[in-house]
Amino acid sequence: MAEMEILYSGSSKVVYKGEGDDIFIRFKDYITAFYGIKGARIENKAKMNCCISSMVLGYLNDNGVATHFLEQMSDTEQRCRIVKHIPIEVIVRNVIAGSMARRLGLEDGIIPENTIFDLCLRDNELGDPLINDHHAVALGLVTYEELKHIYEVSAKVNALLVDLYARAGIKLVDFKIEFGRAADNTLVLADELTPDTCRLWDIATEERMDKDRFRRDLVVCAKRMRRWHNASLTNLTSNSYA
Ligand code: UDP
Repeated sequence: MAEMEILYSGSSKVVYKGEGDDIFIRFKDYITAFYGIKGARIENKAKMNCCISSMVLGYLNDNGVATHFLEQMSDTEQRCRIVKHIPIEVIVRNVIAGSMARRLGLEDGIIPENTIFDLCLRDNELGDPLINDHHAVALGLVTYEELKHIYEVSAKVNALLVDLYARAGIKLVDFKIEFGRAADNTLVLADELTPDTCRLWDIATEERMDKDRFRRDLVVCAKRMRRWHNASLTNLTSNSYA
């Protein structure tokens, strides 16, 4: 890995060029929030996120959702397909929280009757602004037909993940996904699906089990956190691949 060409180096991941259409993603023991204003090293985060993302993306592949994920290579590395990233974040919400609650003056935790889909332009300098379908098409990022497909796939991912996490005693509050174009121009789900990109609440206690713990400085004893994650990983793995 040391001699491979680096395609991208971010705070929590490095992406290397592999052979042919392959890339290698190496996860890091680092977390950032608020566009890098807050950052910290977290021991074993790379391993945890690589395992969770590999398991979740593998589960989606197995259930008919095309993703860039090919295989987990080691505790902290994945082999994936190279894709041309579309600079749009699709946010799917089952429970109102985070930016939607702040923007609309709502309490965290309200359950809407419908699933909510937001589109944001991925642009750090602009603060990833919320956009709508027409903006996305006008900016030349996607066609209306592709958007229809993106919403259908996002809804399917949501249904699959709500079920998967529920079996581990976890409520999937919201998550962010991104899409890319593969060599044959088909759209595939790209990037990670981890507690950095999802809100995950304990179903029984509503305790936060995701990046909000870091964003909000919620203290938890390390032993308890390890117990949660081990239990969740065991449940997720045994349930999804039984
Ligand atoms: N999210 C993400 N990357 C982003 C923005 C959001 O992974 O650049 C995830 C976030 O972790 C949460 C969901 O998308 O699970 C919805 O985030 P929200 O819009 O509420 O923004 P935030 O509260 O993170 O400002």
